Amino acid sequence: MPEDYRCSSCSLVFMVGNFYYFKLDSGYGSKSMIVCRNCGTQHAIEHSIKKSSKKDRLLFQTKPIHLIETEGVAREKPFIYESEFLELKVGEEVNLKTMKDVQCKFCNSKGTFSFVWKKKYKCPNCGGDIKEVSSWTT
Ligand SMILES: [Zn+2]
Ligand SMILES: [Zn+2]
Repeated sequence: MPEDYRCSSCSLVFMVGNFYYFKLDSGYGSKSMIVCRNCGTQHAIEHSIKKSSKKDRLLFQTKPIHLIETEGVAREKPFIYESEFLELKVGEEVNLKTMKDVQCKFCNSKGTFSFVWKKKYKCPNCGGDIKEVSSWTT
């Protein structure tokens, strides 16, 4: 179940958690949303299904995303649908064992990816408080 997070100061948004695909013809069965703790850029690992010839691969956003809510518009859906979030670019093949060597596509740090977000973590962009906005079932 993916969870949406948002910084209350600079409106940085990202999500962490897993999506499971309904259609498996792509050779991939699920996606783990991960975030760079150094800069806040969204990345993901797409997991191949066992019988496919595909390897797990990295997906990424090219930069951190700040979502400013329009005044007076009620938020009913998770913000992923309102933003550029779904448009993840395809990166290199990765595997979970070598994740510590994988570089962030935006800030180039290595081993800064987080699969979960802890309450004590501060916003990588401004040091502000990050709040969980919504969590939902795929
Ligand atoms: Zn912030
Ligand atoms: Zn980064």
